[in-house]
Amino acid sequence: MNVDILIHARWIIPVEPASVTYENHTLVIDDGRIIDLLPEELVSSKYQGRTVERMDKHALIPGLINSHTHAAMSLMRGIADDIPLMDWLQHHIWPLEQQWMGKAFVRDGTDLAIAEMIRSGTTCFNDMYFFPEIAAQQAIQHGIRASIGLILIDFPSAWADNSDHYLEKGLALYDEFRHEPLISMPFAPHAPYTVSDGPLQKVRTLADELDIPVHMHVHETRLEVEDEQKKTGKHPIQRLHELGLINPSLIAVHMTQLTDEEIALFAGAGAHIVHCPESNLKLASGFCPVAKCLNAGINVALGTDGAASNNDLDMFSEMRTAALLGKAVAEDASAVPAATALRMATLNGAKALGLDSETGSLEIGKAADVVAIDLSQLETQPLYCPVSQIVYAAGREHVTDVWVNGKRLLKQQQLTTLSVTDLTMRINEWQVRLAKG
Ligand SMILES: [Zn+2]
Repeated sequence: MNVDILIHARWIIPVEPASVTYENHTLVIDDGRIIDLLPEELVSSKYQGRTVERMDKHALIPGLINSHTHAAMSLMRGIADDIPLMDWLQHHIWPLEQQWMGKAFVRDGTDLAIAEMIRSGTTCFNDMYFFPEIAAQQAIQHGIRASIGLILIDFPSAWADNSDHYLEKGLALYDEFRHEPLISMPFAPHAPYTVSDGPLQKVRTLADELDIPVHMHVHETRLEVEDEQKKTGKHPIQRLHELGLINPSLIAVHMTQLTDEEIALFAGAGAHIVHCPESNLKLASGFCPVAKCLNAGINVALGTDGAASNNDLDMFSEMRTAALLGKAVAEDASAVPAATALRMATLNGAKALGLDSETGSLEIGKAADVVAIDLSQLETQPLYCPVSQIVYAAGREHVTDVWVNGKRLLKQQQLTTLSVTDLTMRINEWQVRLAKG
């Protein structure tokens, strides 16, 4: 049988089944999908590839899924560091956004983020930002899979005037993009403290009708929880629960400051958590008790958050930080092992985004979202366990090739759908504008 691509690899880590690493196997890709995964010696009698790749020093993993980011904010990388969350938002980020954020800002910022993510082995990102139609267009143009949040916030912005306007524009976009194979569109109400009950009730009803996820920052800081407690006598999670939002559609981001009852509530409801350890550490927001959540049976995914609060979109360092911090918080070296960190960065992300029939593991029938990592460099020698090496020793600089839906977006470390020269020029112009304040 003639097929589009054969990738012979030294190691293939499919993530599902768990704890399996195939050696000297071949991934068979046709029409954008994985159609077989078999020992290399059996390939020639079954398949002829129009393209044949030999990855003798590489491990193939499923494309990494960045389950929470604000792509366009990469234009504000490093502009205001070392400041607590509310001060950072109110006195730095929001004023800059008020002045500069628009279609061109979102286009160029999203392009920068997409370039960085592809080079880091990320094949799918879950975005929350203004002008979601621009982010969706850029993702399609550059070939990356994206879950583009239909943002909702009580404040007016350059994109919409009030909560009804946000929802109306969001629903129109949902219709416009619903047949795009790389794009999905969850609702993205910003946070309990920035979206009031009325609009949240509408989101709940619409999300149920359309059967799409709800992506939201929840319990990011102790201050958020204390303020809500003062205002309403409840924790934000209790308020969301009363609004019917703690359910299998919820993608709750951050989730520091959790009681055991709240963990049990999430586990029972089948709601998802996205852990963003580096953003939480940098903003001193607190710690998500990841090991407790995983042990309770909650699906926990990983995200970088925006580049203004991280300051990179590097899922390799996020995996490592999640594993290390998870152990420290649990006071248990066996908590969040390497294979779990990799699963959180792939299949758990796909589950949270409702995309696990499409991506998140190297299984027959799924889209060919694949990353090749060169494990022959000194930094990853000697090599006893590829998964351990990927999580604890390798970095994004070891990613050589990336495919999304069978299309190669990174070829021997060169981007195929973006021009670095053109992008650098555009970013330099933004740097001059934003530096003026
Ligand atoms: Zn965020």
